[in-house]
Amino acid sequence: MDRFQHYIDGRFEDAAQGFDSIDPATGTPWARMPAASAEDLGRAVVAADRAFGAWAATTATARGKLLYRLADLVQEAAPRLAALETRDTGKIIRETSAQIAYVAEYYRYYAGLADKIEGAHLPIDKPDMEVWLRREPVGVVAAIVPWNSQLFLSAVKLGPALAAGCTVVLKASEDGPAPLLEFARLVDQAGFPAGVVNILTGGPEAGVALTTHPKVAHIAFTGGPETARHIVRASAENLAKTSLELGGKSPFIVFDDADLDSAANAQVAGIFAATGQSCVAGSRLLVQRSVKDAFLARLKAKAEAVAIGAPDAMATEVGPLCTARQRDRLHGLVTETLAAGAKLVTGGQMPQGAGFYYPPTILDCSDVPDAPSVRQELFGPVLSVVTFDIEAEALQLANDTAYGLASGVFTRSLTRAHRMIRGIRAGIVWVNTYRAVSPIAPFGGHGLSGHGREGGLAAALDYTTVKTVWLRTSDDPIPDPFVMR
Ligand code: NAD
Repeated sequence: MDRFQHYIDGRFEDAAQGFDSIDPATGTPWARMPAASAEDLGRAVVAADRAFGAWAATTATARGKLLYRLADLVQEAAPRLAALETRDTGKIIRETSAQIAYVAEYYRYYAGLADKIEGAHLPIDKPDMEVWLRREPVGVVAAIVPWNSQLFLSAVKLGPALAAGCTVVLKASEDGPAPLLEFARLVDQAGFPAGVVNILTGGPEAGVALTTHPKVAHIAFTGGPETARHIVRASAENLAKTSLELGGKSPFIVFDDADLDSAANAQVAGIFAATGQSCVAGSRLLVQRSVKDAFLARLKAKAEAVAIGAPDAMATEVGPLCTARQRDRLHGLVTETLAAGAKLVTGGQMPQGAGFYYPPTILDCSDVPDAPSVRQELFGPVLSVVTFDIEAEALQLANDTAYGLASGVFTRSLTRAHRMIRGIRAGIVWVNTYRAVSPIAPFGGHGLSGHGREGGLAAALDYTTVKTVWLRTSDDPIPDPFVMR
């Protein structure tokens, strides 16, 4: 079996404990992963803390150059990283190849931004003072990511944090960590000083050791809301700042004036791409009654024509889910939703044979809009359909969720599009498109979808703190010391 190592303080090392990583396409172990202990995490944080002073003092331009180098290395290594991600998580090679090549652009964006993070000079109301603001890095960042889109979800943390001058301990998920452990080799090759970036993997225990560490200043987390609650509790120990990118139950709204063919393609992208294991999955289709049958007929045909197969084949469109646990949970929720009265449009059968496959599934929940699949994030290729009659009802249904990450609106009416944009409570509104991202565009949500934004300029500022400097320009002695100036 292949073996992977941790990257701590500029060195690759084995861990005392390890675990087997399972190939989701076959259900068999294929690689041996190191499992970080609390002591390993502690050493990584101490290394990051030790490296922090010199890294923060490095010129922003020099930090940017290292990030450019990393971007080039990611681009060169994209095919190798994509093959590893596909092997270890089951995500199809078509998607991993394209996504990882684009991850390089995130590093480039933050490389260019490094020396544009400016302070400010204040027009202070005291004639004998110069007052200015320095933007300084917050310190050691604990970055925790799930297995899906892990290189992308790390880039949106590492890029801005390193550009701002922070050092990072990144914990990969215990499910499918191979691509991030391999990515550590690129960090090393790029020439980042020892301790600036540390990459480990392990489960909840490792996560707790990392997030409660007294030297951690910011916890950047992507994962589920339940884990996020643990993270926030952990941050009570070190009072670290948190940014939380959690899941969603994003509405995908189709009005009767929409281009139905285009919307159907977007809905396929929104729920069946990445085998539905996407935080922004458009998993709640809200469709206007007058076009419901026409739209569902298109979707059903597309769902049934999807090429399901080995994730490493370029022709495959839907591969296995990442873990058996995830597939069992998904099928359980589909079964419960059908028992509650939803109608099965297509899919819904647990396939026989090896691998954690699940077919594209559509559940018409119009008669049971509170069914489990409408309320809960499934994280799989399962679409729940709810019907509406008028625009106000569409908006009410769209916002009837504890989440608030993404949304999609399909209409040819400009005025209606604007009304919906204003009314939807979500961090992202896509109009007549879906599942588009860019390093230039902030990404994140509210409610159970978390808080904070990744991507864009503001994300880099999030890893900084403001220092206010007061410099007195008068040579006269300080006047009355008992009066605050
Ligand atoms: P998860 O919350 O179970 O795990 C995420 C990470 O947290 C893993 O690295 C895990 O080891 C770690 N972890 C677990 N317990 C911990 C603890 N007590 N303390 C610290 N760390 C701990 O999530 P998952 O099931 O692997 O991933 C799927 C979830 O991630 C979904 O809810 C999905 O929507 C969400 N997600 C969100 C985004 C986004 O940007 N909003 C992107 C992708 C995925």
